[in-house]
Amino acid sequence: MTTVSERLATVRAQLEKAARECARPPQDITLVAVSKTHPPEAIREALDVGHRVFGENRVQEAEAKWPGLRADFPDVELHLIGPLQTNKVREAVALFDVIETVDREKLARRLAEEMAEQDLRRGVFLQVNTGKEPQKSGVFPEDLDDFVRLTRDDLGLDVRGLMAIPPQAEEPALHFALLRTLARRNGLAALSMGMSADYEIAVQLGASHIRVGTAIFGERPKL
Ligand SMILES: *Cc1c(COP(=O)(O)O)cnc(C)c1O
Repeated sequence: MTTVSERLATVRAQLEKAARECARPPQDITLVAVSKTHPPEAIREALDVGHRVFGENRVQEAEAKWPGLRADFPDVELHLIGPLQTNKVREAVALFDVIETVDREKLARRLAEEMAEQDLRRGVFLQVNTGKEPQKSGVFPEDLDDFVRLTRDDLGLDVRGLMAIPPQAEEPALHFALLRTLARRNGLAALSMGMSADYEIAVQLGASHIRVGTAIFGERPKL
């Protein structure tokens, strides 16, 4: 049995190796440990060895797990990486430091309102549906430039960069490269791309954030 801390060390080592191979400083890449479905005890193992950046995909689940952990580890940075409904925006702004899944105007407007209301300026990523998959969230690549103007320039959101989840059956590198092109064109620095199966490729293509769940916490229970 490998432990969370062992697996985390392995991922870190591989991340550093991938970064070195493409002459990038490893510290330029943030490892977001995706703890969705895993219990607080597993998360605590990662916290105990110094990991601080985590991703969750559901507001309700995160609300149940994180206030207790945060009380012991106040310097945690929590990212929302799953779809956000407008009726959960208040809770999401209160709980998450970074919201990676901003993908439509209505949501962007609610976020801007709610951040003003709570006097909290949270970082956001715009989610891009690089594969234009009907079941997947994210703005289409051709709509991204307008969406950047709306969110960053008109609404004044703290838009850090772009996030994408490539289609399962396709070569992820093509999608990572597209995301990088879109970010550069809009003057955005951060790129959240790459998961357990493909984070090394994402690092080569410029990821600033990789979102790794299974390789750190093990398989998730099938829902
Ligand atoms: C679950 C999830 C991940 C982590 O996936 P793994 O394959 O377990 O590393 C990354 N990003 C998003 C958006 C997810 O929902």
